[in-house]
Formats: sequence, structure tokens, C-alpha cells
Amino acid sequence: MSEFDSEFDDAQKLGAPSDNNRSSFHAKLLDSLFDGVYFVDAERKITYWNRGSESLTGYSACEAVGKHCFDNFLAHVDETGCALCTNSCPLADTIRDGQRREAEVFLRHKLGHRVPVCVRAAPIRDGLGQIVGAVEVFSDVTAKKQIERRVHELEGMAFRDSLTGLPNRRYMELKVRQAVEEAQQFGRSFGLLMLDIDHFKQVNDLRGHDAGDAVLKAVSETLRMGLRGEDVVGRWGGEEFLVLLPDVGASGLHDFAERCRGLVGESGVLVGETRVSVTISVGATLVAREDSSHGAIKRADMLMYFSKSGGRNQTTTG
Ligand code: GH3
Ligand code: MG
Ligand code: MG
Repeated sequence: MSEFDSEFDDAQKLGAPSDNNRSSFHAKLLDSLFDGVYFVDAERKITYWNRGSESLTGYSACEAVGKHCFDNFLAHVDETGCALCTNSCPLADTIRDGQRREAEVFLRHKLGHRVPVCVRAAPIRDGLGQIVGAVEVFSDVTAKKQIERRVHELEGMAFRDSLTGLPNRRYMELKVRQAVEEAQQFGRSFGLLMLDIDHFKQVNDLRGHDAGDAVLKAVSETLRMGLRGEDVVGRWGGEEFLVLLPDVGASGLHDFAERCRGLVGESGVLVGETRVSVTISVGATLVAREDSSHGAIKRADMLMYFSKSGGRNQTTTG
């Protein structure tokens, strides 16, 4: 029995059919997750449905527990629109062969819209090792899909930086111009962050250019993964990044800037045997109605230089 299977041995008890018991420690633990978690028995009847499942699907535990996954209320489809529950249900396959599986599918929310989710199924075994059901864990991958779509869009359009895979300066100029227009016409708010890696030349000088490249890629990935799906982060220059944050006000702006600074500062790139850490200086500003795109970017840049002269590894908001 694998570690993963045995982890869910207890969980199976709490999901004893129909009681959907939320009083136990494990149930509370599962309810505290953002991910959806549910159990089915060997007949694929749902015996447990956590709060994450409720919020991701719109169906309450009362509505879901007791149903069979083949009742098809979630109507899982793959990217081609092929129905999984009736063709190749990951839970049914896992119950049959005991293998864990993972798939990216779209479930149907109670309100009718499709939600892209990553689902993982694993078998649940009893003390004798017999498969008595399965657990499915699923998480919302909307933001990831948005990022993938954007990367796809950029591909072949000369808008992509080849080292980091991020949107390049041309694309960011375009996006900021669009943002300024939206701010002027509709009053939509946008935040703009200019980020510059501190003492990056030293990384190249001490560790070599390849290590420098690896750090640039890692910082890019950290920023990309740390922001929301609707945010756009691009490589502005050598070791400078520009981030556009739609629908962000003054306090959100500062929080996002500090989040980026914190995430980068806490990362470390493995170069040979050692980890290389870098910090960033950030300039953060809101796009104003009277701004030109050039003016807004220049202000973010100037604020970033205040952070540099103030000692680096800090955010200046203005
Ligand atoms: P500061 O804290 O003031 O920003 O200092 P800094 O060393 O980060 O800034 P400086 O402008 O002196 O140096 C930036 C360095 O970034 C110099 C350049 O060689 C390096 N660089 C720019 N693009 C790349 C790249 O694509 N790969 C690598 N490895 N280095 C790059
Ligand atoms: Mg620089
Ligand atoms: Mg620098």
C-alpha cells in the first residue's frame, strides 16, 4: 500500500457512507483546503464532499453526497468536449486498476458555466489492501489556463522574450497603452510595478553568465506564478520586469508589490551545489486618468530608483 493510500485510510472512515461527518479532525482539515476533495465508494457513490468541492462546483455536500459520480451532475468533459464520466472516468479507472491518475478537465458548475480543473484520483484500500473506493482531489486552474493562453498568443508574434518566455517590452508597451485607454474611457484602475534585481551584475561576475540566466528565469517564473491570471508580467530590460495589475487600488498595489518582493527574496536558484538568492527593488504606481503610457511607466521607473537609493530590496509607492 502506498503512503498516499494509507493517508486516506482514516479519511475513508470519516467519509463513512452518508454521514459526511465533519466533526473529526481530518474532516476539518479537509474542509480547510481550497481544493475540492471527495470520496466515492466502490460503486462510485459519493460518501464525502468537502467545502472546497462546494465552492468550486456550487453543489453543497447535501446535494452531492449519495449521488453517484456517473449521475454526471458535474458533467466532466475534456478539452475536446468529450464526456469523461461515461467514456473514461478517472475514478472508475482508478477503482478498477488501483493506479493513481491526473487529468485536466472541465467540470460544470451548478450555475452552468465550465470550470477548468486539475483532477487527481487515488484508490482507497481497506486494511487488507482491497480497493473500497477512491478519492478525487481537484483544483481550479483558471489562472494557469489564462497564463497558458497568453503564452500561446505570444508565440510566434515577436512578443515573447526568448530567455524567460515572458512577454517582452513591446508587448508590455502595448498592454500599458491599452490600460491607459481603459482608465481614461471607463475609469478602470490599474497598478504598475517596475522591478529591478539588486546587484545583478555581481551574480554574473561571481557565478557566471549562465547562473545569471538561471536566476533571470527563476525570477520570471516566481513572478508569473505569484500573480493572478489577469495580471501581466513582462521582461522590460536586462534584469528589469514590468507588471500590470488590473483593478487594483492603492492598498492592493502596495500588497502586490510587497508580495513580488517577498516571493523573489525568498526564492533561491540552485547553481551547482549552492543556492543563489537575489532581492528586487520595486517602484509601484497607479495609472492615473491623465497619464500617458510613457509617463506612467517613467513614474514607476523613477519610484524604483528611489528604492535603489534608499538601500535596495524595498518598495516605493507613489
Ligand atoms: P542595481 O542594484 O543598481 O540594479 O545593480 P545591478 O548590478 O543589478 O545593475 P547593473 O545595471 O549594473 O547591471 C545589470 C546587469 O545585468 C548587467 C548585465 O550584464 C546583466 N544582464 C542583462 N541582461 C542579462 C541576461 O540576459 N543574462 C545575464 N546573465 N545577465 C544579463
Ligand atoms: Mg537595471
Ligand atoms: Mg539591477
